[in-house]
Amino acid sequence: MRRVVIIGGGAIGSAIACFLSESTEAGEVFDITVVERDFAYTQASSALSASSIRQQFSSPINIAMSQHGIAFFRDIGERLRVGDDTPDIGLVEPGYLYLASDAGEAVLRENHALQKAHAVDVALLAPDELKARFPWLSTDGLVFGSLGLSGEGWYDGYSLLQAFRHKAVSQGVRYVQAHATGLRRDGRRLTGVVLDAGGVIEADVVVNAAGAWAAKVAGWAGIALSVHGRCRSVFSFSCPETLPGCPLLIDPSGFWLRPEGRQFICGFAPPADQDPDDAPLEVDHRAFEEMLWPAMAARVPAFEAIRMTGAWAGYYEMNVFDHNAILGLHPDCDNLYFANGFSGHGLQQCPAAGRGIAELIRFGGYRSLDLSPLSFARILENRPLLEKNVI
Ligand SMILES: Cc1cc2nc3c(=O)[nH]c(=O)nc-3n(C[C@H](O)[C@H](O)[C@H](O)COP(=O)(O)OP(=O)(O)OC[C@H]3O[C@@H](n4cnc5c(N)ncnc54)[C@H](O)[C@@H]3O)c2cc1C
Repeated sequence: MRRVVIIGGGAIGSAIACFLSESTEAGEVFDITVVERDFAYTQASSALSASSIRQQFSSPINIAMSQHGIAFFRDIGERLRVGDDTPDIGLVEPGYLYLASDAGEAVLRENHALQKAHAVDVALLAPDELKARFPWLSTDGLVFGSLGLSGEGWYDGYSLLQAFRHKAVSQGVRYVQAHATGLRRDGRRLTGVVLDAGGVIEADVVVNAAGAWAAKVAGWAGIALSVHGRCRSVFSFSCPETLPGCPLLIDPSGFWLRPEGRQFICGFAPPADQDPDDAPLEVDHRAFEEMLWPAMAARVPAFEAIRMTGAWAGYYEMNVFDHNAILGLHPDCDNLYFANGFSGHGLQQCPAAGRGIAELIRFGGYRSLDLSPLSFARILENRPLLEKNVI
């Protein structure tokens, strides 16, 4: 029986554990251990995420992964059922609304053509159509908006992580609360994962699912991984007015916002020169007062009267090479699988990535969805697969 050790028990590591522990006709059964240093997931991106899913990407592989993701999420109660327990992640699908000014028009039109070619249910709306649909929205400076009509929305990311974990455990996966501090290697193969408590877990296969900390794990095997933690602040706020039909809105000024229950959450992408690698996780409170609030109130006048109710910071595990996931083996090591660098869209991709890595380990190749465009080859050959729609 092959012994698989997965470093990191967030949504990605837990999804891989879940799919790999499924019983299949292929017959092979694995002995699977997930090493997770913090069972409370206090710094895990999966627990600090905006937990949304969209189809509006600029690359076909990301669209395909999200199409897979939404189908899985809609049916998650059955897919991750454990006995009578059918998990509910609270999926809602009000869409994403990308707003474009003159400057962003060409790119959004290009993305729209690609999305339509890949069966994404999306519509371009002129300012008067936007106003008719969303009377609370100011259309000043907009040339149009791109609205997802189905397959886009949000859910509870922490519940998603726990549903994968619960299912994996019910299928025999062991979760060990420990900090992995090294890898034992013999030639081209790893033979074990070293723990801070001093022990070693013997392994025939190791999976790097360490999120924003994945470069460290890769480094233990002598492999350079272009993944860094990029700190992102999220703010929650209340507003006396309701905004009927409010989707996840992305403004040309750089902010995003969406409803969260009876409140809203929002965030922004900092300018590249103010976005250091692996900075401490700290909320950028000044950004809310100085940038976010004024910009949001300009777009949604009802937001003049909001009250901030909370804030948190989490890491995007950013693949600084091309802002896309890195999946599979590296040519320098025969049994270390990577599932890293999701760059802010990993939660919606965890069903596709989890299934894909499980197939790679089980069969030596992808079966349900070909994820090879996300392999290391593009990095080693310097062929970036640029995703333009990173929020
Ligand atoms: C603010 C924010 C908003 C986001 N919004 C979205 C969104 O709307 N939609 C979307 O799809 N994605 C979104 N993301 C991205 C998404 O949350 C991540 O891509 C995804 O959660 C990554 O999952 P993961 O399991 O790889 O990482 P994590 O959840 O971070 O899990 C990695 C785990 O590895 C553990 N670990 C690390 N090193 C070690 C070690 N040495 N030993 C033991 N354990 C270790 C950590 O404790 C952690 O629990 C967002 C992220 C943030 C921060």
